[in-house]
Amino acid sequence: MNNNWRTFPKIELHRHLEGSFHLPTLYSLAQRNDIDAPNPYDDFCRSVQFPADAEPDFLSFLGKFRNDWYRSLDDVSELAYQSIYNFRNDGIFFIELRFSPEHFALQNNFDRKETTLRVIEAGNQAAEDAGFSIAYLITFNRSKQEEPEMINLYKTIRDLDIPEIVGIDLAGDEMNYPPEMFERFFSIIKADGLYKTCIHAGEVTGPEQIWTAIETLHADRIGHGTSSISDPALQHRLEESNIILEQCITSNYQTGSWADEKNHPIARLYHAGVPVTINSDDPTIQSTDLSDDYTKASEFFGFTSEDFRNLNITALEGSFISEEQKADLRREYETALQDWESQFLS
Ligand SMILES: [Zn+2]
Repeated sequence: MNNNWRTFPKIELHRHLEGSFHLPTLYSLAQRNDIDAPNPYDDFCRSVQFPADAEPDFLSFLGKFRNDWYRSLDDVSELAYQSIYNFRNDGIFFIELRFSPEHFALQNNFDRKETTLRVIEAGNQAAEDAGFSIAYLITFNRSKQEEPEMINLYKTIRDLDIPEIVGIDLAGDEMNYPPEMFERFFSIIKADGLYKTCIHAGEVTGPEQIWTAIETLHADRIGHGTSSISDPALQHRLEESNIILEQCITSNYQTGSWADEKNHPIARLYHAGVPVTINSDDPTIQSTDLSDDYTKASEFFGFTSEDFRNLNITALEGSFISEEQKADLRREYETALQDWESQFLS
């Protein structure tokens, strides 16, 4: 049974493109561009992935996100296409994929508009070829840009008016860059009313940062939010306002967000009625994928296909796409699920 979770149709809200690269493509890019990175392939993989036997550590995990692979926008397109096409091996039905234009553009000072368009063009093509649906969040990294630069980049992307971009994400080092530092930026996004927002919060900090993300930044969803398990009033607020937690079992272990995977709060939050979803975060860096997290959730918490259906419907309902798109996808999802059930549950 457990092996079949790979084909279970999945709706994923929290995955970073920069943490999901197709390793053979990244390796060939490094060779072609003469990047200073280990050789041969196995050593290369060890250098870009978080070692399975390493002590969990948030900042050294973040240190795996190199951004010096690219020499041209064609490199960006190729890596985006191959990485996203590869998601088909994870049973992805619909994904809200997030990426940071700054990650791809900074080293060579590529035009940010062009970079954003290239990633989305490649992603749309890959999703179409692989047979799943896709939308995008734009990630802003707390420690990589000052707030005024973030606002400028946001306005540049906003003016592109790309319908597949449905949300804005705040990620990165939450220990040294708490949510209140970005109040002005998120008040501008809120005033525009064009995008929903996700804030990474309570991943390696306490529940107070989740409260700030909700009350001050008006977050529509929370990335991780593991520390909410210690705050019943916050859980009540999340449930009441239907603010979804995007949780990531393997990632939360490796970053030091949660010490014991077998006791991850996702199951307790789910049974308490808090809207939670199951996500991979950065599967390449973690040497894992979303299917592995389903297997863990099944083994550790006894989650059944009915539980996974509930989690996926929560994800679809909490997606930032339009209500019309949700209704279409909901119908298609039920069909995909019935196909899966007739194959594996009969
Ligand atoms: Zn994340």
